Amino acid sequence: MENCIFCKIIAGEISSKKIYEDERCLAFYDIAPMAPQHFLVIPKEHLTGANKIYEEQEALIGHIFGVIRKLTSVIGFSDGFRVVTNCGKDAGQTVDHLHFHVLGGKELGSFN
Ligand code: AMP
Repeated sequence: MENCIFCKIIAGEISSKKIYEDERCLAFYDIAPMAPQHFLVIPKEHLTGANKIYEEQEALIGHIFGVIRKLTSVIGFSDGFRVVTNCGKDAGQTVDHLHFHVLGGKELGSFN
């Protein structure tokens, strides 16, 4: 998708600190970490957000969560982690390409 920063990262037009890549998704460190460990997992398919996840994306989303499970076990989130996806303005979504934040490495506060 033209003008999508995450599509440009997928295409290699913008550099990233890549952690993992396969034919369906990419994981890379967030440029502005909110926790000692903070990375993003994004589908290569351009979906704007969680409100565009339908049954056709079931396998993709399951795959992404499998990747999250593997990466968190390798990176060593022994005391747990949080997965967040912001959808739309009220949630503070700033990049309109579906992404899952994975945060950990400290005790995270509760939501308000
Ligand atoms: P959200 O606010 O939920 O849409 O999250 C977007 C996230 O993308 C933010 O946490 C940003 O810090 C992160 N981000 C934006 N541009 C980049 C980039 N070039 N490389 C890595 N992370 C980025």
